[in-house]
Amino acid sequence: MIRFSNVSKIFGRDTVALENINLEIGDGEFVFLVGPSGSGKSTMVRLLLKEMEPTTGAIYVRGVRLSSIPRRKIPRHRRNIGCVFQDFKLLPNKTAAENVAYAMEVTGQRRRAIKTKVPQILELVGLADKMDKYPDQLSGGEQQRVSIARAFVSQPPILIADEPTGNLDPDTSVGIMQLLHRINRIGTTVIVATHDKEMVDVMRKRVVALEDGRIVRDRVKGAYADEV
Ligand code: ADP
Ligand code: ADP
Repeated sequence: MIRFSNVSKIFGRDTVALENINLEIGDGEFVFLVGPSGSGKSTMVRLLLKEMEPTTGAIYVRGVRLSSIPRRKIPRHRRNIGCVFQDFKLLPNKTAAENVAYAMEVTGQRRRAIKTKVPQILELVGLADKMDKYPDQLSGGEQQRVSIARAFVSQPPILIADEPTGNLDPDTSVGIMQLLHRINRIGTTVIVATHDKEMVDVMRKRVVALEDGRIVRDRVKGAYADEV
């Protein structure tokens, strides 16, 4: 599904963001990507989205080598990958339903499909009764649910969340993680970049740990740090 093969990314003359990364993530896996700030998590996410190219090595998504994708086909590649961010990135002048609908409109989906799909997905994330609220009328956790609904509405095979609980309190964070877990159980490959140690430790999922641009640990049912 996803493969990094000897991937390095060097910014400028000598900022080594990633150094010889080899990583395989299978279909339907749930993976935490952990590590301190500056360890290379965002760089891996941005490479997967083909926002930039690796300095060396190759990245494959669903069997396709990203360097072989021409510029005009990048939008199609990105439709494989739903994205959720720490700061939600919702449009403030659109309701929850309109935010989700907008994501479908920009990918050219039919009006009919949008009309049936939007309420279904908002129901899935537990917001059936808040469809017509604007972001500033929703709590942080509710806004994050809208942003997950938006990322998932076209059922991409891969969902990437970058610090999804970074702005949320612990109880709300648990709900968001349960939701991501549910989306994973439907068959979606889910990658969560985070330094939310407690969350990683309760979930007991695969943990890939980065330090200074290298993978220092990869555990099937891991914790944020090795127990000592
Ligand atoms: P993380 O997401 O784990 O905080 P990043 O992938 O953002 O880590 O950063 C890894 C390293 O690469 C850091 O040293 C960061 O300063 C550097 N870096 C990231 N993006 C850029 C960029 N566009 N230009 C120069 N250096 C960058
Ligand atoms: P995050 O909160 O995910 O760690 P960052 O602060 O690492 O995000 O990065 C935010 C943006 O700034 C990204 O586009 C990243 O590429 C860029 N960036 C990060 N570090 C540097 C750097 N040292 N020089 C230039 N751009 C950077």
